[in-house]
Amino acid sequence: MTEFPQPDITETSRPFWDGLKAGTLLFQQCGQGHRWLPARDHCPHCLSGDVRFVPAAGGARLVSWVLYRSAHHPAFESRVPYNVAIVELDEGPRMISNILCDESALRADMPLRLRIEAQDDYSVARFEPAGREKLS
Ligand SMILES: [Zn+2]
Repeated sequence: MTEFPQPDITETSRPFWDGLKAGTLLFQQCGQGHRWLPARDHCPHCLSGDVRFVPAAGGARLVSWVLYRSAHHPAFESRVPYNVAIVELDEGPRMISNILCDESALRADMPLRLRIEAQDDYSVARFEPAGREKLS
C-alpha cells in the first residue's frame, strides 16, 4: 500500500500536529487578537512575535471547494472522487481540509463540525456537515 505524503512538521508547526494527535485543533493568536492558520513564527497581520496556540471549539463553515476526480498521487487512488475545501473556523482562521460527505451535499456557507482522524503516524483535521441539532 502506498503511503500518503507526510506533513512537513517543523518546530513551529509541531504544536499543531501534536494537538491534533491529542484530539484538539489548535490555531494561532497574537497579543492583538489576530488569529490564523497555518502556524508561523510571526503574526501575518501585525508581525508580532508574541504568538500562542489556542484550541478551536470545532465549529466552522464551508467557504469553497474543488472536487478531485483523478488521483495525482497513488495513495489517493482509493479516495477519488474527493473534495479539497477551504474551511473557516468559527474563531476566524481559514484552513484547507476535506468535507466528509457526498459531493451533492456540499453547499457554500454550510455549517460544519470538526472531525479529527488518524492517518498513518499523525492525525488530520477534517470536517463533516453539522447536524440541525448543532444549530439551535
Ligand atoms: Zn497580530
